[in-house]
Amino acid sequence: MIAKTKPAFITIEKLNVQGMKKNRHLAKSISDQGFYDFKQKLGNACRKMGIERREVTMFYPSSKLCSHCGLKKVKLSLSERVFSCEHCGRSIDRDHNAAINLMQAKEYVLLT
Ligand SMILES: [Zn+2]
Repeated sequence: MIAKTKPAFITIEKLNVQGMKKNRHLAKSISDQGFYDFKQKLGNACRKMGIERREVTMFYPSSKLCSHCGLKKVKLSLSERVFSCEHCGRSIDRDHNAAINLMQAKEYVLLT
């Protein structure tokens, strides 16, 4: 479905699944196999449609950066579902903010 929108590129984040499993809030909803399958399917669809795939490291602060002004929060708990920037005042859904940051990422590796 994502690939069918025919973007020029798709940026994904290398996730630290083992680390995420240690977080009791995340452990239940995480499955290595689920992430692996999604990445494989996305890769197949992108290759088929000629869409560039980019991957940022697991250290890229996609959730902590303000997608509007670039301010980086020192701490952002998982329970904070809305990203509110104390610098520029932007208030945006946490996942939407992270998605914009991934789209704007300048450092990434190209996946084949
Ligand atoms: Zn901001």
